[in-house]
Amino acid sequence: MKPTVILINPWVYDFAAYDLWAKPLGLLYLAGRLRKSGFTVHLIDCLDIHHPLMKETGNIKKPVRRRYGTGKFWKQNVPKPPQLSTIPRAYSRYGITPQAFTRALKQARKPEAILITSLMTYWYPGVFEAIHLAKDVYPDAPVILGGIYATLCPGHASTYSGADFVVSSPRQFWPGELARLLKENIPDFTPEEKLEAFLPYPAFDLLTKIDYVCLLGSSGCPFRCPYCASHYLHPHYTKREPLELFEEVIFWHRGYNVIDFAFYDDALLVHADTHICVFLEEVVRNNLNLRFHCPNGLHITCIDQEIADLLYKTGFKSIRLGLETSDTELQRRLGKKFSEEEFEQAVAHLKRAGFTTDQIGSYVLIGLPGQTGDQVAETITYAGRIGTLPYLSEYSPIPHTEMWKEAVAVSRFDLVSDPLFHNNSIIPCWDGEVFEKASRLKSMVQDIRREALRSD
Ligand code: SF4
Repeated sequence: MKPTVILINPWVYDFAAYDLWAKPLGLLYLAGRLRKSGFTVHLIDCLDIHHPLMKETGNIKKPVRRRYGTGKFWKQNVPKPPQLSTIPRAYSRYGITPQAFTRALKQARKPEAILITSLMTYWYPGVFEAIHLAKDVYPDAPVILGGIYATLCPGHASTYSGADFVVSSPRQFWPGELARLLKENIPDFTPEEKLEAFLPYPAFDLLTKIDYVCLLGSSGCPFRCPYCASHYLHPHYTKREPLELFEEVIFWHRGYNVIDFAFYDDALLVHADTHICVFLEEVVRNNLNLRFHCPNGLHITCIDQEIADLLYKTGFKSIRLGLETSDTELQRRLGKKFSEEEFEQAVAHLKRAGFTTDQIGSYVLIGLPGQTGDQVAETITYAGRIGTLPYLSEYSPIPHTEMWKEAVAVSRFDLVSDPLFHNNSIIPCWDGEVFEKASRLKSMVQDIRREALRSD
């Protein structure tokens, strides 16, 4: 009989969470690879909004879903951790109930190992809870924790998570360390020796229902923004053969009727003419009538008229631009990736191609160390004036980034002592009337968005 592994995508514990094409892509790649290595893989996605066991949970409001597979998660209010008790917002566990989770664990065959992923560092309470419950049900199975939190905060994860092993490798999809651990713990396991990057496809077919598929045309990023850990999590910028990416889209579309595809690339448009444009032209040539989305911001200087036209023709529905700030001095600190003129040109190209204001969002950073509310307000106004919808992107301090030391120095919380304080909702690197300031800026965003949509 094939050995069994249980793979777990844990809960999110936070002040807010939204399914903006959020799937555990690294875990699904791992699932594909484990299947290829001869395992029976049992996936438990705590964020599964279609989970069959939630049908029996009559007292929790069904999540509202929106366009293109996005929407709300299951949600239950829970007490705030004592460290966050002064934050004037409700705290929730997003995902299925712990009872449904435990039943799902019991429905699986006894596993040889349990693998748990982790995402945001400050979501670790969900990781710990999943580990704790998994160990209750299967006390003899080794629990291996990997993912972003485990990689960025390995000491914290090893000390407090309760996992038997913590894989703190930047190579998320198939770390050598994980193959070694599986070999040690499962005597008849032979890892696939020759695994190609991006193959086999991530196992979206293990989800209860495929609302959309997340794609990677490349991994890593050639830039080094001081607030971002991309270079640490993916040290090598690797591109995928564009026609091979096209084959994956065809695989999900023809085999599973998938229409919506979300790119997870950090740098989708870099060297576009020899890479993503080849893919996009193939999509256009095949007249597939698909929808594409890019929740990660696109690089403004890469958008010329040809690319804007191609994005539109291919079926891109939501464009997000990484505006960050309109403040010249702050832009310089963040690496000055574009000028105002280039931003305005990019928006003009997108509009000329056919995109409307409601399809073009600008990510505006808020909460950076040393940044003022006025700088954010000016950026929001600017984003609206140029014909885009501003979206606030709250800064989260991340270990191993260039800005980390500065964040630690200015934060009103002890960021080093507890990753809960990395939570972007608490705007940890601002002080004073933080929540009042943030709430004024959020209202401003709402007003500008309403106004922009009225006059579009
Ligand atoms: S913020 Fe975006 S562009 Fe900057 S380093 Fe990270 S992934 Fe790259």
